[in-house]
Amino acid sequence: MTATRFLDAAPVPFWLDDPRRPQPREAHHGVGHADLVVVGGGFTGLWAALRALERDPGRRVVLLEADRLASSASGRNGGFCVASITHGDANGRARWPAEMPLLRRLGDQSFAELLDSIDRHGIDCDLEATGELTVAVAPWQADELAAESAELDAAGVAHTFLDEDAIGAEIASPLACAGILEEHGAVMVNPAKLAWGLADAIEQLGGVIHERSPVRDIDRRGSTIVVATSDGTLAARQVVVATAAFPALVKRTAGRVVPVYDYVLMTEPLDRDELESIGWRHRRGIGDGGNQFHYLRLTTDDRILFGGYEAVYRFNQKVDPRFDQDPAIFATLEQHFDAMFPTLAGVRFSHRWGGAIDTSTRFAASTTLSHRGQVATVNGFTGLGVGASRFFASTALDLLDGLDTEATRLEMITRAPVPFPPEPIRFLGIEATRRAIAAADANEGRRGPWLQLLDRLGLGFDS
Ligand SMILES: Cc1cc2nc3c(=O)[nH]c(=O)nc-3n(C[C@H](O)[C@H](O)[C@H](O)COP(=O)(O)OP(=O)(O)OC[C@H]3O[C@@H](n4cnc5c(N)ncnc54)[C@H](O)[C@@H]3O)c2cc1C
Repeated sequence: MTATRFLDAAPVPFWLDDPRRPQPREAHHGVGHADLVVVGGGFTGLWAALRALERDPGRRVVLLEADRLASSASGRNGGFCVASITHGDANGRARWPAEMPLLRRLGDQSFAELLDSIDRHGIDCDLEATGELTVAVAPWQADELAAESAELDAAGVAHTFLDEDAIGAEIASPLACAGILEEHGAVMVNPAKLAWGLADAIEQLGGVIHERSPVRDIDRRGSTIVVATSDGTLAARQVVVATAAFPALVKRTAGRVVPVYDYVLMTEPLDRDELESIGWRHRRGIGDGGNQFHYLRLTTDDRILFGGYEAVYRFNQKVDPRFDQDPAIFATLEQHFDAMFPTLAGVRFSHRWGGAIDTSTRFAASTTLSHRGQVATVNGFTGLGVGASRFFASTALDLLDGLDTEATRLEMITRAPVPFPPEPIRFLGIEATRRAIAAADANEGRRGPWLQLLDRLGLGFDS
C-alpha cells in the first residue's frame, strides 16, 4: 500500500513544537570578556557550561548559540539517553579492546552523575527509566544477537537474552524474533525539556546564555582567545567548541565529522486498545538489530517515535534546513512502521522531521585541543550523544585545565579519529559504504569485501 499518512504530519520536530519552549535569550552584542566561552547550545555545549560552573562557581561562563538552544540534533533526537561513550559496546570492543573495562566504568559513572544532575537541578524532562531492548526483526539478526549476548557475558555486562518466546512479553510484532534487554544504563527523556532545564541550571549558577549569536571566528591574540560573533567580540581564557555537524570553527578539526541526516516520524497518542495490541508494557526504548536500524520508543502521552533506517549524506553536504524533510524517506519509515505494527496501520502521524548527526569514522566523539591548549573542540557522537555528551564535555574541561585524569589518558582522547577524505572521494566512499551496508542487511547480515576492508582499517559509516 502507498504510504501517505505521513503527509498530514506537521513538518517540525515534536519536541520543539511545545508551548513550554522558552523565549529566546538576548543575542550577544558589543565587546565582553569571560573565563570560558562555550560555542553551541546543544547538549555538549550545555554540559560544558554547567560542568564548568559546578567545578568552579566563580568562573564567568558565556554560552553562544547561533540559532536557538537545542534547535539542531539535541532537540530532534530519539531521546535515548544511554551510558555508553563508545557508541555501543560492540564498537568499543572493536576499537579499544584493552580499554573497554575502563570505558564501560567511565561511561556508567558519567551516566549516574548525569541522572544525579537532572535530579539535583530539578530538571523535568519526562525521564522514564525503561532500559533498552535490541530486537531482532529477521532470523539472521537473532543469530547475531545470540553471538552478541555471548560477548556481553564474557565481558560481564549485565543483560538478558530473549528468545522467540520471551520477546513476546516485551513487544507484540510479527517481525520480532529475539532480543537483548539491558535494563540499566538507558533512560528515555524528552530531549528538548532536558536541554531547556540544563540552560536554566546554567543561569541559576551565574552563567550567561546568548541565542541567535553565531560565532564567526576564533583567534588567539597574546594569551587571550578572541571569539568574534556577528555583532561583537568576547575575550576569553578558554573556549569549548561544541558545534557538532556544523562547519568547523577550528581548522585542525576540519573533516573529522560529516553531517549525516536521520529522519523521524511521531504518531498521534495511541488509545488503550492500540497500546494493548502491541504489548509494549515495559515501555523499553527499542532499536532493531539491522545494520540499517530503526529506533522506536513511547512518549509520556503514548505516542510512538519511529526513526532511523536511512542515514543520508548528500554530495558536499552542509547542515541546512532544506534537508529537514525528505518525503521518500518518510514514506519508507511509514511502510516499515506498518510492517512492525500491523495492528496500528490506521494510526496517524502528528510530526515528521530530520536532523543532522555529526558522524565520525570511528562512530564515537573526540576532543581536540588547539590554540596552544586554550580551545577544545568536541564532536563526532554519530547518533549517540544524548548521554555521552556529558562525559566528553567534562573531559574537554579536564584537557583545558591541563588535568591528568583517567579520561584524559584514554586512547580515545589522546588519538584523533581518521578524518573523512575531501570531496568527491568523501561522497563516493560514503555512498559505496551505504550500499554495502544495505546489501549486507539484504544478505542475512553477511558483510561484503568493501565492509570487510573498512572493518580491517577500523573505518566505517553509521548513524
Ligand atoms: C534524528 C536524530 C536522532 C537521534 N537520536 C539519538 C538518540 O536517541 N540518542 C542519542 O544518544 N543520540 C541521538 N542522536 C544524536 C544526538 O542528538 C547528538 O549526538 C547530540 O544531540 C549532540 O549534541 P551537540 O551539542 O554535540 O550537537 P547539536 O545539538 O547539533 O548542537 C550544536 C549547536 O551548535 C550550534 N552552532 C553551530 N555552529 C555555530 C556557531 N558558529 N556559532 C554558535 N553556535 C553554533 C548549532 O546551532 C547547534 O545548536 C540523534 C540525532 C538525530 C539528528
